[in-house]
Amino acid sequence: MQMKFCPECGRPLGQHQIERHLRRVCLSDAGGCGFVDYGRFTLGVGGLVVETDRQSGERRVLLIERNQEPNRGGWTIPGGFVDFDESVDAAVEREVLEETGLRCRAVGLIGFRNRADPEVNTSYAVFFLERIGGALFSKPTDEIAQCGFYTLAQIREMPRLAPLSRTVAIAALTSEPHFLRPVTVPGLGDRPPFTLFLGED
Ligand SMILES: [Zn+2]
Repeated sequence: MQMKFCPECGRPLGQHQIERHLRRVCLSDAGGCGFVDYGRFTLGVGGLVVETDRQSGERRVLLIERNQEPNRGGWTIPGGFVDFDESVDAAVEREVLEETGLRCRAVGLIGFRNRADPEVNTSYAVFFLERIGGALFSKPTDEIAQCGFYTLAQIREMPRLAPLSRTVAIAALTSEPHFLRPVTVPGLGDRPPFTLFLGED
């Protein structure tokens, strides 16, 4: 869905060829502010939490069953959208807590999904988290019907497990995951430091 009016100054947007795209632009030669509509992008995060069952010694992955549309009754790893004013690792820690009751710390980035659909370009970063506290919700919420830890055999039998969640869960339970780990890099001049997820030993 393309914008019709400038979100900055409210003028009707015109069109202008910028490199290979005809963009919606708030044309400055028509008195506009110069705003350019570069299209829609979204950034989501998902959390992979692995736990070893004390009795059986089997490793299991944390999954949730959705209790709202879209995809009510579907299963995924916990996650959601990143707010504009929070870091990706803070976002995934918040979503895991909100959806499961577990307090976790993001220890590394293990996967990144991107899809350039015509309407919106979506990205989703999957983090490996370690549990540091909290307790699993035992009752349904508006968002989540149930949550829990599931073994490789159970995951392979789940008919409504989302493909990305299935892929990362099976990878984590059948091999040693490789992380890109967060490194704090100082900014240039007076710009603040930032987090770089870097694959180094
Ligand atoms: Zn404008």
